[in-house]
Formats: sequence, structure tokens, C-alpha cells
Amino acid sequence: MHRCFTDHFIIGTNKHVAITGDEAKHISRVLRLTPGAEVEVCDGSGITYIGVISAITKTEVQVEIREGKKDLSEPETKVLLFAGLSKGAKMELVIQKSVELGVSEIIPVETEFAVAKEGKTERWQRIAFEAAKQCKRPKVPYIHEALRFEDAVEMLTHCDLALCAYEKEQKVSAATILQRLDSGCQTCGVFVGPEGGFSDKEIACLTKKEIPTVSLGKRILRTETAAIVFVTLVMHQLGELG
Ligand code: SAM
Repeated sequence: MHRCFTDHFIIGTNKHVAITGDEAKHISRVLRLTPGAEVEVCDGSGITYIGVISAITKTEVQVEIREGKKDLSEPETKVLLFAGLSKGAKMELVIQKSVELGVSEIIPVETEFAVAKEGKTERWQRIAFEAAKQCKRPKVPYIHEALRFEDAVEMLTHCDLALCAYEKEQKVSAATILQRLDSGCQTCGVFVGPEGGFSDKEIACLTKKEIPTVSLGKRILRTETAAIVFVTLVMHQLGELG
């Protein structure tokens, strides 16, 4: 069954909801669905609704909502990926893969050695949307505007568990600290540096805020590999994989 997203919150069943924009075009012109066809509708709340198309125009598809079911594919713990701004294709890969793996939010961060200097939030949000749709997630992860390093650290301190991947960390592995992840953890924030890594000053700042630096293994990984591995380890610990 085709799954589509709506910007409007769906409140209750037996109501009509409008699907507009590219989603409507896809339904009418590409899939050529007609009134009477069943579709799944997600409104970002985590509930997947089953509905029946009641009317179609070139710009809008009206769906009558029949039933809603809580989608269990969303992790109970919110995983926030903080990623130092990296060059175009790398950042896009990180966004696509981490959405597939189950992150809730992605926070691009301006760091001292970042090669890329500005975020492309609108484009990245679109990539997150496409990835969520492709992997059938009911929620589209939120891509923040790029934050200054200090603001990102502040936000990390509000997570129940926060970790920073650091290639020079030799004693503490990510897997060891991730054992602290339990059902009481509502948010887990993981930070990965850009191509150029973190500066000593940035690592000192993280350490001062008691955010542990952790190793992802003996080899230095590219930033995009590190982000994917880090999120995979978190999701494995949360029982979200396999
Ligand atoms: N500029 C650094 C260098 O050449 O030594 C490497 C930075 S690495 C390409 C980019 C980011 O990936 C790092 O800031 C870190 O967050 C993460 N990373 C890569 N390998 C890692 C490892 N073995 N353990 C922990 N973090 C790692």
C-alpha cells in the first residue's frame, strides 16, 4: 500500500485529510491512483493511518481516514546525531543513512576545523523526508539549522546520555559507555567531528562538560563512516537492529 505524508495533524478517524504538493502529484500522476484506493497516511505523530482516497485533483488528494495504528518502528529512546559540518555529499550520506537507522534529530554543527561553513537545511530536510519514506518510518527526523559548537554542547548536556567520537581516545570504547543506555534514557546524543576532526579546544570543552570521548576502533574512520558506525552501535544497544 502506498504511504504518504501530510503536513496536517490527523485527529481521529472518519475525517478527511488533504495530501498536497509533490505527494499529491506522485499519487495522481505517477502512481495514477483513483478514488477508492487505500493508502497509508503519516502525519509525523508516530501513528500510521489507513485511509481511502475520496477525491483527486491535479494538486490535491483527499483521503478519508478509516483507522489509526501506533507504529512500533520508532525507537523509544530518541537518538540525536550531532555532526560537524562536512562537505555536501558526505553530509547527505550521513543524513540518509542515519534516518534509515532510526535517529530522531540531526544537528549539523559549526566546528573549528569544518571545511563546509554553512548548512543546507532545506535540502537536508528533503533528504530526510525521502529516506523516512523509503524505509517506512512514520516520523520524518528533524534537521536543525546548523548550531554553533558551544550551543551544540549545551544541547548535548541536556541528553540523558551524551558521547563524543574521538579518534585519539584509546581507553574508552563507545560500546562500553553505551551499556549505560537503558529504558530510563529518553534521549541519547552522539557527536561526530567533521573531516578535519575536533580541535584540542573543542575536546577540552566537551570534557569540561563531562561529555565522554569514546573510541570507534583502532582505525581512523572517515567522518561519514564514523557517524554511521556510531548510530549503528547505539541502535544495536537499544535492540533496534536485527
Ligand atoms: N582529522 C583527524 C585525523 O586525521 O586524525 C580525523 C578526523 S575523522 C576523519 C572525523 C571524525 O570521525 C572524528 O572527529 C571523530 O569524531 C570520528 N572518528 C573517526 N575515527 C574514529 C575512531 N576510530 N574513534 C572515534 N571517532 C572516530
